[in-house]
Amino acid sequence: MTLSIRWKVTIGTLLVLACGLLIARTLAIRSLEQEEIVRSEQMLEARASLVAYGLQPFLVLPRPLASMAPLQAAIRDLSSRALARVTVIAPDGQVLADSAVPDGSLATVENHLGRTEIQQAMSTGRGTALRKSSTTGERTLFLAIRLPIQNQSTASVFLRLGLPMASFDREVDKLHKNLALAFGVAFLIAIALSVGLARSITKPLSDITIAARQLAGGDHDVRLRTDSRDEVGLLADTLNQMTDQLKTKIHELSEDRGQLLTMLTSMVEGVMVLDNRGRILQVNPALEGMFALTQSETRGRPSSDVFRHPELNTLVATVLATRTAQQDEIVLMPGGQCLHIEAAIAGGAGKNDACAVLVFHDITERCRLETIRKDFVANVSHELRTPLTSIKGYVEALLDGGKDDPATSAKFLDIILKQSDRLNFILEDLLQLSRIESGQIQFKRDPLPIQRIIERTLAMIKPAADKKGHKLLALVADNLPPVLGDEDRLMQVLSNLLDNAVKYTLENGTVTVEARFVSDKAERPTLTTAVELSVTDTGIGIPERDRPRIFERFYRVDKARSRELGGTGLGLAIVKHIVEGLGGEVRVEASMPTGSRFVVRLPAQPINPPVS
Ligand code: ADP
Repeated sequence: MTLSIRWKVTIGTLLVLACGLLIARTLAIRSLEQEEIVRSEQMLEARASLVAYGLQPFLVLPRPLASMAPLQAAIRDLSSRALARVTVIAPDGQVLADSAVPDGSLATVENHLGRTEIQQAMSTGRGTALRKSSTTGERTLFLAIRLPIQNQSTASVFLRLGLPMASFDREVDKLHKNLALAFGVAFLIAIALSVGLARSITKPLSDITIAARQLAGGDHDVRLRTDSRDEVGLLADTLNQMTDQLKTKIHELSEDRGQLLTMLTSMVEGVMVLDNRGRILQVNPALEGMFALTQSETRGRPSSDVFRHPELNTLVATVLATRTAQQDEIVLMPGGQCLHIEAAIAGGAGKNDACAVLVFHDITERCRLETIRKDFVANVSHELRTPLTSIKGYVEALLDGGKDDPATSAKFLDIILKQSDRLNFILEDLLQLSRIESGQIQFKRDPLPIQRIIERTLAMIKPAADKKGHKLLALVADNLPPVLGDEDRLMQVLSNLLDNAVKYTLENGTVTVEARFVSDKAERPTLTTAVELSVTDTGIGIPERDRPRIFERFYRVDKARSRELGGTGLGLAIVKHIVEGLGGEVRVEASMPTGSRFVVRLPAQPINPPVS
């Protein structure tokens, strides 16, 4: 069992006090007794001299032994005068007379030779002893002296005076009682005082303990109030200061942590922190999103278990082993995400304190654009080289003699003209695209009736459609609001789409142009009022895997067929750029049972403009 400080102080104080009182009582009584004994011995000595004087007549040989009765009487008399028990003992220890023994019983009194005081008197002439008398049964102080027998230098008797200590003992008893009473009262006062003292020491301490518990429980507003200016008061002040500092520190830390968390949470880049053994300490929401993970799946687990990606695991192993910054670019399958990862060592200097921080940049878009750029450069070179090679070949053939034959030269020159036209188309389309991209072409936002644009474009495309026996249909909804755009550009969009529809549909197909009103806030809140223009054909269609890339420059499903049909591979790229420049959208979908459907959504003038 553990005692509280209060009890320790109380019990300790009381034990010390009890010991002190006991020692004081013992010492007081002992010194009193010693003083009493010395005083009584002196008194007995004086009385013994007087009694010895009174016994002179009996100390003559052979009388003492012969006349016991007178001696006994004299002894009684002297005893009452000396106020002490008087005993006369023969040298052999026989009691000759004793004031405390009835006359007739003297013979039965025990031999006194063995008594301490007689033994001392025998050797030194005087002896004292304080003991219980076997004759009277009382505690008695004895003084024995040797008395010489007159005219007999060798013979002597012992005179012994006994002073009963009963009254002294009673006094001592009374003193005991008084002292016990006084000590009892003193003890009670001491209990009260020590309890009070202990309380005054422990109360602030228990207050401090309670405050410390509250502090540990997270209550940082706790204050210790103490009026005392002693060590406990000092401790309370120090604790208050410590609490203030702790509060400030915790506040600073939680602010820092909050900022860090906000930073980590709002970062577009994925962040992962690993300990020195490669176990995950922290991942941010961006990283969770990239790898479709949750905190609970990752925390505390080795990164190699969570990310089963060899390149990433090698990067982590290298940075932890070499303790130098590393970076790598990896492509995640099956999503095809492209990530740039930077790994660095952070934290303490000790090998075990350091941790690795990995930052994941999602560069999928950059990778995609890079691929497009590379493809574009390759495609441009290729597209330009093909007609140029052809032109060069025919010019050489002409120079090699072809020019001498009018028919051949006319044929060759015609081909050269067509290839030059093709080169021209490509360059024009490229120039137009680059002008749109660089913002050189400003799109007008005129309210235009879509019906008119459709009619005029269909009229332009009709000869080509007729040539292939296609049926051209126009389904335009009534009361369409005017679209906001640039007439020439819109006609170019529609003619490119119709041109493709005619081109990529086998003979006797159907090409349908539709226009309808859409007002779909939920689908596209920024484009609240729009007109959807679609071109549907019954042609060869576009495989699903090619659809996402169909609007890229020079992307063609079937290059040979496109070229054969006179396509530059830039038509849809121009469509997309113009539509987006006008604030609209374009998409492609399959048309059932065969064919493709291109849908262009264009902003239109609101029918009922909102009242502002
Ligand atoms: P091109 O000049 O080759 O037609 P475009 O940019 O206009 O270039 O079209 C890109 C490719 O998209 C075409 O080569 C063709 O493969 C495909 N395409 C476009 N429109 C259609 C369509 N209506 N039906 C089938 N394929 C089409």
